[in-house]
Amino acid sequence: MPDKKHKPERETPRKEKICKRCGRAFAWRKKWERDWDVVRYCSDACRGAKAGAVDAELEAAILELLAERGREKTICPSEAAKLVGGLATRHDWESVIDPATAKGPIRLRLR
Ligand SMILES: [Zn+2]
Repeated sequence: MPDKKHKPERETPRKEKICKRCGRAFAWRKKWERDWDVVRYCSDACRGAKAGAVDAELEAAILELLAERGREKTICPSEAAKLVGGLATRHDWESVIDPATAKGPIRLRLR
């Protein structure tokens, strides 16, 4: 009679995952060896984080802007941030940066 060997459990590939909360990529770690297939968050902070009042305001602002523009047009997330934060105030997301080292879209102006 053939020896019935247990098939090894199919292992979840140890490739990067995207955190469900912050959207950043995170890599496999030894501490997740046994439950990597169910890991969804990059950190305890992300796992415990609940959407707050500002998140609700931002979501509402995004939906409002999208409804105004219609299905053919897009919005920039910063527009929602400005709507929630107030247009008159200068905010962190409008800080002056060095275009040579910046990542992502930037805006330009004359000095
Ligand atoms: Zn995260």
